[in-house]
Order: sequence, then C-alpha cells, then structure tokens
Amino acid sequence: MHCPYPNGNQMKDPIVILGGGPCGLSCAWELAAQGWDVVVLEREPRPGGLCATNTFGEYRFDLGGHRFLSQNQELTSRILDLMGADMLVSERKSVVMHSGKRFAYPLSAPDLVENLGLGLNLKALLGYAGELIRRRISPRDESHFEGWVTARFGRPLYDRFFGPYTEKLWGIPPTQISSDWAAQRISLLNLGDAALRLIGLRRSPIRTYARRYYYPRLGMGQLFDRMASRMCREGGIIHLGADVTGLDVVGNRVKAVRYHVDGQEYLLPCSWVFSTISLPALARYIAPQSTNGVETAIGNLRSRALRFLNIPLDIPDFSENTWMYIAEPQYKMSRIQEPKRRSSEMVPQGKTSIMLEIPCSVGDKIWEADGNTLFQEMSLELRSLGYNIDSVALDHHSVWVEHGYPIYHLGYQHDRDTLLAEVAKMENVLTGGRQGIFRYIFLDTAMEMGIEAAHQIMQGSRNLKHIQSIRTEKALLEIDALTAT
Ligand SMILES: Cc1cc2nc3c(=O)[nH]c(=O)nc-3n(C[C@H](O)[C@H](O)[C@H](O)COP(=O)(O)OP(=O)(O)OC[C@H]3O[C@@H](n4cnc5c(N)ncnc54)[C@H](O)[C@@H]3O)c2cc1C
Repeated sequence: MHCPYPNGNQMKDPIVILGGGPCGLSCAWELAAQGWDVVVLEREPRPGGLCATNTFGEYRFDLGGHRFLSQNQELTSRILDLMGADMLVSERKSVVMHSGKRFAYPLSAPDLVENLGLGLNLKALLGYAGELIRRRISPRDESHFEGWVTARFGRPLYDRFFGPYTEKLWGIPPTQISSDWAAQRISLLNLGDAALRLIGLRRSPIRTYARRYYYPRLGMGQLFDRMASRMCREGGIIHLGADVTGLDVVGNRVKAVRYHVDGQEYLLPCSWVFSTISLPALARYIAPQSTNGVETAIGNLRSRALRFLNIPLDIPDFSENTWMYIAEPQYKMSRIQEPKRRSSEMVPQGKTSIMLEIPCSVGDKIWEADGNTLFQEMSLELRSLGYNIDSVALDHHSVWVEHGYPIYHLGYQHDRDTLLAEVAKMENVLTGGRQGIFRYIFLDTAMEMGIEAAHQIMQGSRNLKHIQSIRTEKALLEIDALTAT
C-alpha cells in the first residue's frame, strides 16, 4: 500500500519530513501534489501517528478512539473527497461514571443537580459563595489548575470531581499544572453561570460539543493509510520503520537527516526539514551541546504516556456508550471505549470489544506491567464498575504510547519558547503538530499546521509563529456544524 522502501532515493535534496502522523502526512501530501520532492521518515511500521489503527485478527482498535471534526470547510471537503463512501457520520453518547452514578457528558447542570443529591448541592453552593467572598479579600493564585477551578466552582466540587480526575490523568498535583489546561477544557464559566443556566436566566451560547462526527469505516488509521498512498501516488516517498536519530548541521542550516532502519544508519541530504517529532528531541538534534537554559527546557517538557488494553469480547454489545469516563482516582483506567459504537466494521459480526485507556509514565508500574497482570487488574476494576467480562473476554492486547498528552506544567510556555527559539535559528527548519509545537491540539489542527508548513516551504518564507498559533482561541471549540446539518 505504501511506497516501496528505497535503500537510497533518486531525489536530489528533497524536503524531509520527520514523522508520518496527521501533521507530517498533510504537509507531504500538499507538497507532493504540487510536484515537490518530499520524503517522510516514520519510526513506526505504519503511518498515522496517534491516529493509527491497530488490527488484532478481525478486531480493530484506534489509539484511543478518534473523531474527525473541523471548522475548516476546505479541509473537511478534502478529507471527504479522499475517503468517499468509506467516511461515516457517527453519533456519540458518552457518560462520566462517578460514585456508582452516571452523569451525561458533556456535564449538564440539570443532570448534575439531580445526581449529586441535596446535601452535595448545598455544599457546592456554600463553597462557591465562600469563593465569591474570598475573591474580594484574598484572591486565589489562579495560575495553576487547582486555584483556577476552585475560584470558579468552589472547594467541594473541586475536591470531589475536578481535582482527583486531573491528578490521575496527569500524574502530578494540580497545583503544578498550568490553568491553560482548565481554560481549554472546561466549558462552563463558573458555578454561578451553571446555576443561571439551570433556572433559565442565562441562555448565551456556551462552547458546544458535537454529537455527530466523521469516522472512517475501518478506524481512523484508514484515513492516514489512504493519505500516505495518495501522497506516494503523487510522487512523494514514505520510509516506514525509519527512526530519525540526528541532524547534520552546518552553520544555520541542516544539510542532512540521519536515521536508522533495522540498526543500519542512513544519511539523507535535504533542502528543508519539517519536524513533527517531539520538540525536545528536535532541539537536541539541532544542538547536541546546548546551553543550560536549553538543557533545562529539554528536561522540563514531558509527555504523559498511555497504555491501552484492547479486549475482544464474545458478546454483541458491551454498553450503549461510545465512551465512558472513569473519574474516581481508585480506578487506574480513565476511559472505556467501545470501537463498534464508531463503526460496526471494527469487530466481526455479532461481537464487540472494549479499549481501556490507562494514563501512566514511561517506566512506571503500569507501563512495565506484563499484559496478563494488567488484564487481571483491569478485570477487577471493571467488575467493581458493574461489568464482569470473565467469561466473555476472548483475548487482550496491549499498546504503549509514549507521547500521549503534552504536560502543561507551570511555566511550560517559557520552556516551549526556549526550544522554539532554538529551532528558529535554523534557516531551513520548521516544526509543527502536537509533539512538534508541544500543544494539546486535535488532529484537524495538526493537519492545518502541516498544510501551512507546506505553503511556507513552497514560498520559501518561514513564519514559525504563524504555525504555532493556528487555532489558539482561548477555548478549544468543538464545532456544531455537523449537528446543524
Ligand atoms: C487518546 C487520544 C485520543 C484523541 N482523540 C482525538 C479525537 O477524537 N479527535 C481529534 O481530532 N484528535 C484526537 N486526539 C489528538 C490527535 O491524536 C493528535 O492531535 C494528532 O495525532 C497529532 O498529529 P501529529 O502528526 O502532530 O502527531 P502524532 O500523531 O504524534 O505523529 C507524530 C509522528 O512522528 C513519529 N515520530 C516520533 N519520533 C520519531 C522519530 N525519531 N523518527 C521518526 N518518526 C518519529 C511518530 O511515530 C508519529 O507517527 C487524541 C489524542 C489521544 C492521545
């Protein structure tokens, strides 16, 4: 399906793209379509990055179920053209499980009031009132997640919901997480806003969450398999299993990219480099001997890892939900997804499967656990949530993801800017995408960054800041364009 892996290639100083995820492939496709020489180097044996789909027998699993949604109509049309009848419109239903109760997701004020019970509702209101008074006397430090959320929702709701889930997800105390994360992810302004909406006194639109979304018939990876094939048909090359290990820098230019395939080193001379690999790795390749500030920034910018436990089941359905958030900290898993709810072709007829998402850090107990031990532990968690899979689990498969989520630690912007400034010193290097910019972005934004990088390269004019700031709206909006149709 992909371009044959060439030992050398006939292109003279091509544009070299580091990483074959949505960002790198979108850039490569754009360049190849315009007749430019382009080579993508991808470490994994398949394209797609975090949007790849793994196949185990007749069962398919994304790396955490993905959805495609975009405010960019041109991008959407391109993707629909590429996929044709293989692109489905799916509908989501998701819940948050907490204290044996199910809350609709996204959280809605009426549902919260009904599920929380009188006692906690009163506590929450008192906590919020206390925050209003405190704001006048001694305002909280809102630079971190805990301060930002407590000031807006009060201590009782923070302690019960926001704090424990956030710490489980990120693996560090919420006082060390930047409030940027909260501002991007929490759609209600504060508890007062929620209460006014509940009694109908405020109706202005809040951030909307799309119920319907696009999803390829055979998993999100199908989109990027097809994009890679199309890019190759238009003259581009993708080397799979090619691990980038260094850059040959002369003055302010990268002359060649070093990479390994099966333990053998190759050197690929280049005219431009567009990197979508992790920003700290790129900074290290540009300047192996760095200043103290750069070294500190490289050490500080870390990602939260994920382990997925994929379980084929000998039953037709597990639940009616596309995904369920498991909020309480005593559970290691953070989400349960059922791939069949996105496309029936993710499983054989009459069967289903679940995909458990477990946040972790590289090298910790979860990351290192052997598959059987983790499966036993997760089966117990499922049982305590009300699901006994002992007699219906057919198998289990683990998948590890090192760079799941960029950790927005306090001061991360400074570290990121330090490394981006290093990249900016190179005349023929651009960086983009989720790892390349160290930003929590969705796949459509990653694709937009790739396309923008291609345009800058074709015009011979670099504007890293522009790539960096694509869709930096204060809140990451999920659009309702699909629901409106
Ligand atoms: C659990 C989860 C669920 C998500 N759900 C959604 C969703 O529903 N909708 C949505 O829009 N977005 C979603 N996202 C975000 C989406 O996955 C990313 O925005 C998107 O994949 C970013 O694309 P990218 O190309 O920038 O990076 P990546 O997908 O990370 O691709 C980078 C590529 O670089 C390669 N690479 C790294 N180092 C090297 C090296 N040294 N040499 C060669 N290759 C290398 C990697 O193997 C990878 O293929 C989700 C993310 C996660 C983690």
